Amino acid sequence: MNPDRGARAFDWERLLDRLSALYRTGDWRRPYLRDHAEDPFQVLIGTILSQRTRDANTDVASARLFARYPDARSLARAELADLEPLVRPVGFYRTKSRVIRACARELLARHDGEVPRTFDALVALPGVGPKTANCVLVFGYGIPAIPVDTHVHRIANRLGVVRTSTPEATEERLREVVDERYWIPLNPLLVQHGQNLCRPRGPRCDLCPVTDQCATGVALSAGRPPPRPDDAPRRSAGAQRARTASRPAGRRRPPRRRRTTAPRPPPRTAPRRAPRHRAASR
Ligand code: SF4
Repeated sequence: MNPDRGARAFDWERLLDRLSALYRTGDWRRPYLRDHAEDPFQVLIGTILSQRTRDANTDVASARLFARYPDARSLARAELADLEPLVRPVGFYRTKSRVIRACARELLARHDGEVPRTFDALVALPGVGPKTANCVLVFGYGIPAIPVDTHVHRIANRLGVVRTSTPEATEERLREVVDERYWIPLNPLLVQHGQNLCRPRGPRCDLCPVTDQCATGVALSAGRPPPRPDDAPRRSAGAQRARTASRPAGRRRPPRRRRTTAPRPPPRTAPRRAPRHRAASR
């Protein structure tokens, strides 16, 4: 099957219905901000603080910070010596203190202390990347966007609707294949699923209500290995020949030369140990 058609035909409505029933989040069709109003400034600064740390640490630091500096005007005037102890729980607290203050100053200088409502204006702020900008749009303003964190990236690949190796590529692909009316509830429900059943290691497919919609769940229940993000569809020999023929002559790879000399024997040294696996950081 054409993977693009498969991704577009994916039944998001059914998936969102099942996940919202599982996590009792109410009807995902209701406008998001009606039930979850958040202050855009606090979403912005809280998301910057949340980078490379656990949610529990972000909650502690955010509560302390916003009790003293609830808006851009007060944060822009803060001393770093006062900010650092407040945001210390999130790690990298010196850098993050500088970044959030610079962000607040920029809001004051360019946007009269208000958080902008467009992606381009948001990513122009210090410390703001695509994920943070999308979080502000969705959780601060209820504007359709798809914030892609590690949970959304992992689950979208497990479901088989994307085959990507980075959250940025996942966001780009999801924007192409997911209808805009599903964008807002996608992040909160997939993040909740990623924190509970579809965890990074040992997903609980046996308890998951979307197993029949999930490429990984279907493969595992049939005793097959799950598809991997790097299982890109292989090119047929014909497609490969056509691709080579369409390259400009100057850029074609030269044909491989046959080896005319005997292969060299392997060096007589002890085999190197394989490097130890390092856990991937967030
Ligand atoms: S079936 Fe398994 S891999 Fe698929 S979404 Fe559910 S828990 Fe995750």
